[in-house]
Formats: sequence, structure tokens, C-alpha cells
Amino acid sequence: MVDLPLTGGCQCGAVRYELNAPPTTVYNCHCTNCQTISGGAFATVLMSPRDSLRFTAEEPAVTEWQATSGKTRFGWFCGSCGVRIAHGTHAGPDDLAGKVLSVRAGTLDDTSWVRPVGDGWVRSAQPWVVIPDDRRKFEKQPDDYPGLAAAFAAQKNFG
Ligand SMILES: [Zn+2]
Ligand SMILES: [Zn+2]
Repeated sequence: MVDLPLTGGCQCGAVRYELNAPPTTVYNCHCTNCQTISGGAFATVLMSPRDSLRFTAEEPAVTEWQATSGKTRFGWFCGSCGVRIAHGTHAGPDDLAGKVLSVRAGTLDDTSWVRPVGDGWVRSAQPWVVIPDDRRKFEKQPDDYPGLAAAFAAQKNFG
């Protein structure tokens, strides 16, 4: 069982955060944006309710870009060491997209429980990445969040 709040932060420790609710799911994103940001083959992200995240030390810096959906995405990162903490979408109050964050799982203090249940943007996955058969695969942005949430809930990390 994993205790709340989840805590994490950047490499230098200037930006620290708490998540006061369980993530709804955990998956790997193989989009080229995540490859660039991570400097690796994919990013493992926690989908978290936006109001569950609280910064507890310095405020993060912000970068923005236009998603293929046309919406403006933003990324919070440490202005000192540059580590990316989380991404979100600027959206209206009634728009679900504005209510979730994708938190970079590798920034958690304790990653021992993190097991992705799916893989998004597999069409741009590196050819040497092997995705186990028991994970949900999506050619582009995952479009079955209820399914991913159910698979994550089955791990029973949070009771
Ligand atoms: Zn830092
Ligand atoms: Zn991505």
C-alpha cells in the first residue's frame, strides 16, 4: 500500500511537490515530445487530478506549446536545474482536459510502486522498445482512460 501524500521534486531540490490524491493511472508516453524532454525513449507519467498537486518549496517555471489538438499545453519545470515536473492543458472549467496533470513519474521520491498499465503514441516508439502484451497500446494519445484507470486500480496500490 502506498501512503499519501506522494512526494517528489526536481534534481536540485528547489522545486518540491506533494500529490494528495492517488493518480488515476500510470502509462508510458512514446511521443516525440516526451522523447525530447526526457532525453530517452519515453516518459512514464502519472495522470493526476490537477487540484491534488501542491508545490511545497519554490514555484516552478513554465513553458508553453501548441498541441496537435490546437490546445495550449504547459510544462512546469525547475528554473534552476531544468527538470520537467508536470504537464497540463489550459482549458475551460468544464473541459476535462484542464482538470488533469501528467506528472513525470521519475520525479517521485519513491518510484518503487510505479508500474505502467499502458503505452501511448506507440507509432513513434523506438523500434527497440519492447512493450509487454499485458499492457494496453495506443497508436496516438490514449483514448480509453476508463480502461487505463481500471487496469491501474487493479494494482491496488492505494487500497
Ligand atoms: Zn531543480
Ligand atoms: Zn508524450
